[in-house]
Amino acid sequence: GRKFFVGGNWKMNGNKAGIDGIIAFLKAGPIDPNVDVVVGCPAIYLDYARQQCPDNVQVAAQNAYKVPSGAFTGEISPAMIADIGLQWVILGHSERRAIFGESDELVAEKTKHALDAGLKVIACIGETLAEREAGQTEAVVFRQTAAIAAKITDWTNVVLAYEPVWAIGTGKTASPQQAQEVHAKLREWLKEKVSPEVSDSLRIIYGGSVTAGNAKELGQEGDIDGFLVGGASLKPDFIQIINAKQ
Ligand code: 13P
Repeated sequence: GRKFFVGGNWKMNGNKAGIDGIIAFLKAGPIDPNVDVVVGCPAIYLDYARQQCPDNVQVAAQNAYKVPSGAFTGEISPAMIADIGLQWVILGHSERRAIFGESDELVAEKTKHALDAGLKVIACIGETLAEREAGQTEAVVFRQTAAIAAKITDWTNVVLAYEPVWAIGTGKTASPQQAQEVHAKLREWLKEKVSPEVSDSLRIIYGGSVTAGNAKELGQEGDIDGFLVGGASLKPDFIQIINAKQ
């Protein structure tokens, strides 16, 4: 079975005091031991969060560049993330793609490099509203996944996050049926284009306006292996989302 995975993505929010508050509710839990919990923290606070977080919560970077070091002002590398004792990075978030112009190719290169550097990757994909309305949802998520599949062979350390852009920060959650449909299509695609083993074992998580109110229903779908949570990961509600399968 695929272990349930709940990621938080704090995005560019918070400060030390805010992180202290989040850590306090993470420590208080309770956190279902059958769930992997990983929180994505702004780069400047990664070491601070790592020092404070309880052992059952891992800390992830929200981005990393595609080479170990060099003249890339403002960037951080997977080697640096590993050096401070962290194991995870979020790559290809739709905000990175849309606001910072990251292409499928760059996201795939970053994924390959992060895995080679020993990190685990939450790789994000998802269609915009215009793409969905044009009937392009599958084509878009297959294209984004294919770019990654062209660069990596070992998917053991990857979690795939399906985050429809129209559902992110909008309060318009995909229905459990809408999310399940895309997750199932992705699994079929992986079976055909990568391998039946990867299709069976890869965790595909859903993100986009996940709340304590809708997590239980979403989590009941057979191909939804967890969540990537933005806004609600900053609040104690996150604990209920982590425990949605209980
Ligand atoms: P919201 O949960 O705030 O919609 O954000 C989702 C997201 O982008 C997680 O990466």
